[in-house]
Amino acid sequence: MPLMKAVQVAAPGAELELVHKEIPEPRETEVRIKVEACGICHGDAVVKEGRFPGISYPRVPGHEVVGKIDRLGSKVTGWQTGQRVGVGWFGGPCLKCSACQRGDFSNCESFLTTGISFDGGYAEYMTAPMQGLAAIPDELISVEAAPLLCAGRTTFTALRNSGAQGGDLVAIHGLGGLGHLGVQFARKFGYHTVAISRGKDKETLAYQLGAHTYIDAESTDAVAELKKLGGARVILATAPNSKAIAGLINGLCPDGQLIIVAWPNEPMQISPWQLLGGRRSLKGWTARPARNSSEDTLRFSVISGIVPMVEVFPLEQASQAFEKMISSKVHFRSVLKMDGNA
Ligand SMILES: [Zn+2]
Ligand SMILES: [Zn+2]
Repeated sequence: MPLMKAVQVAAPGAELELVHKEIPEPRETEVRIKVEACGICHGDAVVKEGRFPGISYPRVPGHEVVGKIDRLGSKVTGWQTGQRVGVGWFGGPCLKCSACQRGDFSNCESFLTTGISFDGGYAEYMTAPMQGLAAIPDELISVEAAPLLCAGRTTFTALRNSGAQGGDLVAIHGLGGLGHLGVQFARKFGYHTVAISRGKDKETLAYQLGAHTYIDAESTDAVAELKKLGGARVILATAPNSKAIAGLINGLCPDGQLIIVAWPNEPMQISPWQLLGGRRSLKGWTARPARNSSEDTLRFSVISGIVPMVEVFPLEQASQAFEKMISSKVHFRSVLKMDGNA
């Protein structure tokens, strides 16, 4: 059996380890992808920590995957070998639940999650259900397309569906993998774009990404600064810090909403009055498992010139790349690049 290099988690709490495994064969409705690049997302931490129900180990993480189809399952339609495709967090609908039976795939009750339900992209090859694939535009190189499949798609769809309109004040909290894309999308959507992060050193980067205003939450009171600007119509919370997110609710304008896309492990404490006073709302957001949300994100990024800023690592350095992401030292996304690929 031919072998491939992969980086896996052997058990909850274990370190990432480089192993040699058999190259997987696609099932009837799956394709096999020769992986070119895979982004490292904070969501991969749930595999390492065993925080997601029902993960079977060992498991290969990775849900920002770009590569070329090199083998088709016998019942795959609509995709060809050699085609460059992407796979994000949503690996595809289950096709069995009542929502799927009604054709309402975006509300699937037990969608497959890439790198969690099945092995992901920290590997030279992976298999994926055909329903979870997105076509990658030629204009994007693989290491830059990869982060758009989770970090990009999440922030793009959260803002696009937020109800904010051109000129509204929209704040992006956090300038990591998700936040640095959120700032770029917010600017291109025509919002008054505010970036909130910690430290003077982020200011120049925030303006480079397109922010109109930078709030340094280390040296100033972010809520007071937002209030001076009239309050935010939308705050997109991308930094995994429950306490900081809860405090920001007070920086919303009346009827404003705080949208959480980060996944901190700690409970969040808020006072009901934070919502009642000003009729504010708080909600979580994930990009639903529809192919078009990935392809819309990719297309919008191409036409508006949005490019993720990435640090590229070889597969063998997945552990270092992961640690750099967890400690927020990467500007702004760690991406694994497989040998000899773009
Ligand atoms: Zn992710
Ligand atoms: Zn389903």
